[in-house]
Amino acid sequence: MYLHAALETLSRNGIEKLQMERLRKTLNHCQNSPFYRNRFEEYKLSPEDIKTLDDLKRIPFTTKTDLRNNYPFGMAAVPLDKTVRLHSSSGTTGNPTVVLHTQQDLDQWAEAVARCLYMVGLRKSDIFQNSSGYGMFTGGLGFQYGAERLGMLTVPAAAGNTLRQIKFITDFGTTALHAIPSYASRLYEVMLQQGIDPRDTKLRTLLIGAEPHSEAQRKRIEEMLGVKAYNSFGMSEMCGPGVAFECPEQNGMHIWEDYYIVEIINPDTLEPVADGEIGELVLTTINREAMPLLRYRTRDLTRILPGACPCGRNHVRLDRMKGRSDDMIILKGVNIFPIQVETILMKFEELSSNYLIVLSTNNNNDEMSVEVELEELFTDDYSKLQWLTKEITRQLKDELLVTPKLKLVKKGSLPKSEGKAVRVNDMRNH
Ligand code: ADP
Ligand code: ZN
Repeated sequence: MYLHAALETLSRNGIEKLQMERLRKTLNHCQNSPFYRNRFEEYKLSPEDIKTLDDLKRIPFTTKTDLRNNYPFGMAAVPLDKTVRLHSSSGTTGNPTVVLHTQQDLDQWAEAVARCLYMVGLRKSDIFQNSSGYGMFTGGLGFQYGAERLGMLTVPAAAGNTLRQIKFITDFGTTALHAIPSYASRLYEVMLQQGIDPRDTKLRTLLIGAEPHSEAQRKRIEEMLGVKAYNSFGMSEMCGPGVAFECPEQNGMHIWEDYYIVEIINPDTLEPVADGEIGELVLTTINREAMPLLRYRTRDLTRILPGACPCGRNHVRLDRMKGRSDDMIILKGVNIFPIQVETILMKFEELSSNYLIVLSTNNNNDEMSVEVELEELFTDDYSKLQWLTKEITRQLKDELLVTPKLKLVKKGSLPKSEGKAVRVNDMRNH
């Protein structure tokens, strides 16, 4: 049941002891990084000042801006000749940032991913296909090495070319697939067009992540493809995939506390939130050589699920990501997350899972419209369309507290992205 039984089933006490030990090492090691050495000097801190996990709060946060300002190698805590790989974020929200790895970092990362894959039931005998982009995007090599570490036959199919992707699934008897959620839906559509019933393939397990998605979308993917789908969370700054992953309970993602110290803060006051409340995820790496990060502000919003998980792992569980603090739409003073829109849309089986939120300014008035593709079957029935439009708008208004304009559009008419789905097009002129 556990790949690393001793570590995965550590008691709370055991986890904290290990964290303190590793934190101490990390803080000393950080003195080799020009960035952290300066930071510690600036704040008149020394590693010895941190005597308990609680003292961690005395260390200032590290932000994406710090990474950018120290581009490319200013954060490194080892000489460059000790590093063996460089990754950079896909830069969804600005300039890319660089993350360096030593061989030991890569080994630890592969172990973390292998642990996650084993946790959802994958074994050596599985055939694992990865539809992530390879190259700089960490979902490619991250899953590749993790799956190989577990001993699975691993197919680096890479992103795009859906027909080839499907051919691999059927020809090789792929049993497990990693895909971003928007791509999983796309695969299903193309399979149907090809006259292939996904249930006739050997595919049983899907790992979905890299972008926010709702519980409803997971259910839909599971039903469409006849699989179990597990949420996978990671980011380049923390290596990539393998940071937090759902267990067979499918109720929150265990974040590996032997690798990371987890804090959830209020992004405005920067103080810790109360137990179980939503806030920004802040992570400290405690097993990294090339580029340790202290109190890194991920900008991802989530909460720690209360209570113990029946699977026996005491590593805390993160709730499904609500989005990033910088994804939040502020419309007429109301805060809106795209995932709220998605949760409503997914309730209607008449709608496909491709949607776009468009923000525009009209006569100095900010407006939001939601464009969503219809499943083919329903496009002809006019009175049904009218009823649908009304009902969806009503539910969106209840959820968002503003009334968006709803446009039901023909299947295939919204842009499809090869990578992470783009859900918001902000054309407001301010
Ligand atoms: P970029 O930051 O340029 O998009 P990354 O590939 O490092 O590049 O993306 C990491 C981000 O992707 C995370 O910070 C988070 O916002 C998002 N993400 C990753 N996995 C998930 C997931 N399972 N659910 C929601 N969002 C996710
Ligand atoms: Zn669990």
